[in-house]
Amino acid sequence: SSDRDAEQGCPASSRRRGVGQLARLCSPSIRVFVAVDAVPGRCQADVRQTSDMDGKRTVMRELEERIRRDGIVRDGGVLKVDSFLNHQCDVALFDRMGAEWATLFRGRRVDRILTIESSGIGIACCAARHFGDVPVVFAKKAQSINLDDDLLATTVYSFTKRREFPVIVSRRFLHQGDHVLLVDDFLANGRAMEWLIKLCDEAGAIIEGIAIAVEKGFQDVGDRLRRRGYDVRSLAVVRSMDAD
Ligand code: 5GP
Repeated sequence: SSDRDAEQGCPASSRRRGVGQLARLCSPSIRVFVAVDAVPGRCQADVRQTSDMDGKRTVMRELEERIRRDGIVRDGGVLKVDSFLNHQCDVALFDRMGAEWATLFRGRRVDRILTIESSGIGIACCAARHFGDVPVVFAKKAQSINLDDDLLATTVYSFTKRREFPVIVSRRFLHQGDHVLLVDDFLANGRAMEWLIKLCDEAGAIIEGIAIAVEKGFQDVGDRLRRRGYDVRSLAVVRSMDAD
């Protein structure tokens, strides 16, 4: 099974996909055309953990390599990374991602981390260990909004589930004047991030930065947020990808 392959450290994709299936992933520092079909030796690939700065963009090579190795490009522009990020969680990698963000946001005051259910929670919790064990609050996808509770509420369109969700955060966990780091696994159309920003604005919280694992750079959302003054740090930037 794909899980078993991933458990063994081998890219599940390498066993199933045809030779013609390619994913092109280009970062600010390396521009490559990578075959998703890995050769057997690639299972043992020695990945490094370093980072470069390219303006406000960052690359964590280990994450980049992992996306190349285990990522699967699905129709509809979905990059599937469920063997280490979205379903099975590589917590050692999450921990190193947290350390990387702590370096990138060094000197910032962070009182709490805000993310959105569900894929953001694991990476946010690991990140919190590197920000002085600050609390992690996640916006919950609710079936309905109970207006009796003291809630910050909005709706979010889910790219992967293709429908709108009410999203709530209790006012008990997000306060006026809080310095907040926003964390999410993907920055694609930016809708989830816009709603987190809106929730912070509504609460009167101060956004210190936006920490993203994988930015789909070709959708230009990250740069739009940067132009608006947000400090957006993405550990991997996908410049383009093809499922063919
Ligand atoms: P956005 O609102 O920026 O379009 O997307 C936010 C959410 O959609 C992310 O938190 C992530 O869960 C999901 N998402 C967007 N694009 C992708 C993708 O290519 N692959 C996966 N696995 N999730 C994605």
